[in-house]
Amino acid sequence: MFSKLLIANRGEIACRVIRTARDLGIRTVAVFSDADAGAMHVALADEAVHIGPAPAAESYLDQQAILAAAARSGAVAIHPGYGFLSENAEFAEACAASGITFVGPPADAMRAMGAKDAAKRLMEAAGVPVVPGYHGEAQDPGLLGREAERIGYPVLIKAVAGGGGRGMRRVDSADEFQTALAAAQREAKAAFGDDRVLVERYLAKPRHIEIQIFADSHGNVVHLFERDCTIQRRHQKVIEEAPAPGMPPAMRERMGEAAVRAAKAVGYVGAGTVEFIADAEGGLSEDGFFFIEMNTRLQVEHPVTEMITGLDLVEWQLRVAAGDRLPLQQAALTITGHALEARLYAENPAGGKFLPSTGQLRQLRLPAGDVGHVRVDTGVRPGDAVSMFYDPMIAKLIVHGADRDQARYRLRAALEAVRVAGPVTNAGFLRAIVDHPAFAAADLDTGFIDRHLEALLPQSGAASDDKLLALAATGVLCARKTSARKQADASGDPYSPWDATSGWRLNGIGRETLGFLLAGTLREVGVIHAPGGMRLVLPSCEDAHGVQVSGSLDDGELVAEIDGQRLTAGFDVSEGRVTVMLAGDAFVIALHDPMQAAELEEGGTGDVTAPMPGKLVSVRIAKGDSVRKGDPLAVLEAMKMEHTLIAPADGVIAAVHYAQGDQVEEGVTIIAFEAAE
Ligand code: ADP
Repeated sequence: MFSKLLIANRGEIACRVIRTARDLGIRTVAVFSDADAGAMHVALADEAVHIGPAPAAESYLDQQAILAAAARSGAVAIHPGYGFLSENAEFAEACAASGITFVGPPADAMRAMGAKDAAKRLMEAAGVPVVPGYHGEAQDPGLLGREAERIGYPVLIKAVAGGGGRGMRRVDSADEFQTALAAAQREAKAAFGDDRVLVERYLAKPRHIEIQIFADSHGNVVHLFERDCTIQRRHQKVIEEAPAPGMPPAMRERMGEAAVRAAKAVGYVGAGTVEFIADAEGGLSEDGFFFIEMNTRLQVEHPVTEMITGLDLVEWQLRVAAGDRLPLQQAALTITGHALEARLYAENPAGGKFLPSTGQLRQLRLPAGDVGHVRVDTGVRPGDAVSMFYDPMIAKLIVHGADRDQARYRLRAALEAVRVAGPVTNAGFLRAIVDHPAFAAADLDTGFIDRHLEALLPQSGAASDDKLLALAATGVLCARKTSARKQADASGDPYSPWDATSGWRLNGIGRETLGFLLAGTLREVGVIHAPGGMRLVLPSCEDAHGVQVSGSLDDGELVAEIDGQRLTAGFDVSEGRVTVMLAGDAFVIALHDPMQAAELEEGGTGDVTAPMPGKLVSVRIAKGDSVRKGDPLAVLEAMKMEHTLIAPADGVIAAVHYAQGDQVEEGVTIIAFEAAE
């Protein structure tokens, strides 16, 4: 086995690999960019080497810097994790040339599977079913259009070099084809430096089912069953599970065999995933699955396979890379129970936009130990920041159960235990998926999220407003008490009435009003500091005496007793806003301040601002143009995805402040807009 392993990655996967390496007695070396100097993966590793500035292209993708780090630290092997250099054949070769073992497949196998079109041709030849379509080399737009016509709409345009759903467009009719083609090519060029595409039939009720395979360098290949990754948003996986619900055993066997055949066809070694799309129209069937691509690395969702097989796939990767035989033969592999994984992201689901939400994780509590059968894979700790430079994933929550229902309940409990203050997360959205009756019934296809979006997005539930306000008010009062106590301690007179926060008066009862802005509306909570304790008069409270409350706040944990009901929530105050974290949701409520309120009311000029930092890839309008509500004005590329900025109303373009190719900061006005009267 290797004496020292360098992990050419960051975040949760770097931490995950380090843990197994440590279990095996292998010393570990982390690499880090400027942005990650204090990151968790750096702290976990035995050693760490700085490799460059924050942008990935200048650090985690810099092959020379990584090889130099390996040489400096004496690492004899490199684990690439997923993303970054994990599927880069050139890098695998550069490792070999430096006498370092690349923990992954041979460069040739990566190349053979690297381009989706060539891989499809190869798979067809190996007798693996592929989606009907065009995967030729010629790229003339006219020809592609005619091919789409031949295949029959709807079709899917895919970047040949694609990954992560980028450079992919579904097209429903011929008149949309050329526009969609141009967008897919542009996105592909930006993300992969390669704008070639393929066109294939878009299946009506597609389910994404993939097979985990493993091969050693002695010619043994096994499969570790399937994962169902059908719950996707914009072709990116959101929730994964194993085994696939409703999978007929005969189909599992056929798919497993096809995946093993695919691996053998390219002389594969190591961990790989053969992705298929299954046509779920009329249920899963033995002959209703098609190869879409092979990922020549460890997948984000590998833990669900580990949960049902009881194996450690990173351990297998390291053993295979060290030249060992596969630890088990096919006949010895079995499935136990059911596993689910949810990807917790720093992103805001509001309005179905899912904009990345970066910033410091002022509070972060992930389920661990206190919720049964949960595994949390993360690369961040409380106080760390989610930066705009990398994938905004906070953690993966993985659960195991005796059956799917049990796993589902456990995942819900795990999601409800999540508390994050700072960036907005998708925890509530994930919970809504897990709770949805169609998900419970395993009525799945890749259109699930779009179809049920309305029901899955956070609702501003008026019914719970009072509870929220009561918690917010109790939290504010507790926080105030804590800070007053600190001040009093510092002033040397702990009994000074001037530092007291009990609405202290010489005579009678103290009263005050706390103002909160909830969904843009001012809501007032009356506070009565009476001799018998504190009472709150909530907006819907009919009794002027209010309800009895008490509470304590310790390290962000608020325990409140409101009218005899005991509630526990996470609580955080920052920059005039409180965050109440309750059952996986985080409610951000602004504290009402008359000075701020005046400012808040001004807004709404209708100008088009950057919803996040990014690069303008196209500007379609000019000063003086008249536009209709919803017209596309410009395209912003951020986090490697394209976001179309649209006209907020009918009107005229008053000014265009940035040009194509410009980098813009979050919140800047890109287009000044005058709405029509
Ligand atoms: P990427 O490499 O960008 O992830 P994939 O080829 O793996 O692209 O496809 C990603 C997802 O897109 C699939 O999981 C599936 O949801 C959807 N998809 C791919 N091909 C088809 C198809 N022919 N019809 C319908 N959906 C598809």
